[in-house]
Amino acid sequence: MKHKPSNRFLAFLLLLALSLGAFAQTPQPSVSVNRLQQIIGYLASDALEGRRTGTPGANDSAHYIAGEFSLLGLRPGMQLARPARTRGENRAQFLQPFPYVAYVELGKSNLFFMNRGRPDDAMQFLVGKDWMPLGFSSNGRIEATPLAFVGYGITDAELKYDDYPSAVKGKIAIAFSGTPDGDNPHGKFARYEDVRWKAIAARNAGAKALLVITQENNLQDDRLSRLRYDNSAGDSGIPVTVISRQLAIRLFRESDGEKLGALETAFRLVISQHLAHGAASFGFSALQDANMIPVANYALTLSIDIVRREAPSFNVVGILPGTEPKLKDEAIVIGAHYDHLGRGGEGSLAPREGDIHHGADDNASGVAGLIELARLLSTQNPKPRRTIVFIAFSGEEEGLIGSSYYVNHPIVPLANTIAMINMDMIGRLKDQKLIVGGIGTAQEWRSMIGAHNTPESIRTAALNDALSGRMSSPPNLRVNVDPTKASPTGVPIVVAANGQPVVTAEMPKLPPPDLARPFALTLNEDGYGPSDHSSFYSKQIPVLFFWTGNHDDYHKPSDTADKINYEGEARIVSFVERIVRDIGKSDKRPAYTVAKSDSQGRTMGFRVYLGTIPNYADSNDGLKLDGVRDDSPASKAGLKAGDKIVKMAGREVKNVYDYTYALGEMKAGEEYEVEIVRGSERLKLKITPAARK
Ligand SMILES: [Zn+2]
Repeated sequence: MKHKPSNRFLAFLLLLALSLGAFAQTPQPSVSVNRLQQIIGYLASDALEGRRTGTPGANDSAHYIAGEFSLLGLRPGMQLARPARTRGENRAQFLQPFPYVAYVELGKSNLFFMNRGRPDDAMQFLVGKDWMPLGFSSNGRIEATPLAFVGYGITDAELKYDDYPSAVKGKIAIAFSGTPDGDNPHGKFARYEDVRWKAIAARNAGAKALLVITQENNLQDDRLSRLRYDNSAGDSGIPVTVISRQLAIRLFRESDGEKLGALETAFRLVISQHLAHGAASFGFSALQDANMIPVANYALTLSIDIVRREAPSFNVVGILPGTEPKLKDEAIVIGAHYDHLGRGGEGSLAPREGDIHHGADDNASGVAGLIELARLLSTQNPKPRRTIVFIAFSGEEEGLIGSSYYVNHPIVPLANTIAMINMDMIGRLKDQKLIVGGIGTAQEWRSMIGAHNTPESIRTAALNDALSGRMSSPPNLRVNVDPTKASPTGVPIVVAANGQPVVTAEMPKLPPPDLARPFALTLNEDGYGPSDHSSFYSKQIPVLFFWTGNHDDYHKPSDTADKINYEGEARIVSFVERIVRDIGKSDKRPAYTVAKSDSQGRTMGFRVYLGTIPNYADSNDGLKLDGVRDDSPASKAGLKAGDKIVKMAGREVKNVYDYTYALGEMKAGEEYEVEIVRGSERLKLKITPAARK
């Protein structure tokens, strides 16, 4: 008996053939290893010179990403007053500018002179040769003011260490650079290598300005003499300058260059003996012989004038509007930062400056994932029901400046932003190890991540890819018109009523067995971490953070495109795509939960914990909070997101450094006053720090 296929079955076959034909015309409908290679290859190329925020390389990157978003038909994040006329204008609409100081330079009024008693006996010193202001110094002029020596210029309540004699009030403080630890990066004083802390201590002690003596013999060789700005905390509130050793010698009574070094050594020795014997308190102010390093009785006149230059810096924002009328007002943000470290300097782990830091893994890899996700979600069916906001952030390496700006100037209201997915360094998949952060920030995350990481779900995804033509080579279809004689080989696509496959597909390019294996996941609860998702979590938005972990090339010029595991990255991007689609399936938004914290503040080695989330944007008039952890001392004190801390534990707080400084002086279990500005109100609250576990 010869089986005659029914008309319905023929119609189905025809439909299948048509749809396969249609897919065949769509180029690369799955995550394309080729595209990842192209994108990372370009972003990590020498041409973009390491993409440091505010540099032409970063802005070329921004225009490139905007061009990709535009080609995909995404809606630009920013609207021009009139429709864009040129391609350049069209691209510019994807750029969200944010303020950023790219460099500082000397203004016209920089003066330093010393008066040795008689009005006609003044000596002038040259800026750039004998002295150099620090990038975060305040501008201003101080007339004929006496000097006071302050050792290393360090005050640390916890270590019971104080270099400031009370006589420093109203004077210009002069300090050695460095710390009593010498070069030990793990020493107790390590953080005071940063002159920011010394400036705060000097200001708190009532000094009018701070001079720091270089370690190098030549001022120009000393890292402190390079004018730089950290974009983190505004200016220091008093003038701060580094001075050459030659200039310092003139300021001390001793006139011998050898002597300055000897004095420094002697001072360090005394301090280390105090340290070793566990003296009750020590530092320069506690020394018996405070005259051991006497400064001359000269009056200094100091004028500092530095100019901070802003440079154009942008987030790149492209929007894929949702298709479901009821849900399209809600948005999922998918993000990745595109900036990196330029030619080294701040943030680099390279031994010297000057070489291009390619940042292929950090984070050209995440941007490639972002652009591929934009392509897949905008071209593949079904289209997302909710709006997807694709953002390539800048200023990440400088302290999450771009994402922090975005959450304070959102394009889709944050109340409607139901989740943020961040990819930062996803190019080094090794032994299937993938880290997912933010698991504790939504009820659904753990089971959702788990469900997409089983062998079954990975096989299903691979099969779907194959059937929809989403693999790079289309499947080889085999039609068995006689289901009773169906070939047992291949993957059944159409199964007859008797359970026999009638259409099977041979898939010539199944993922290699290694790549079809589930990821070895490390799941981190915390929604905070060293990347842009932190900015969103601080606004109570559920986040997920994908990361393949640290490696030897991290923040070095050797983080290059040839070291990327492209097949591995394609798997991760496909994994992220399935999760984004899954979030879209439910009418319910992910339920925000407060995650267990495992990182914040530990790097500073503080013993106390408040649970505040500082804003890292520049400030001069207080520390703004991006958020407050639930159930923390800060929330118990009544602090809220948006509050600005202006005083804490008796210390004035102008910026994040002052805040951290005050925090270092607080003790667990003791009550302190914290003064804040909320809107137009000034409030005093009581806060009791908890011990850090
Ligand atoms: Zn980085």
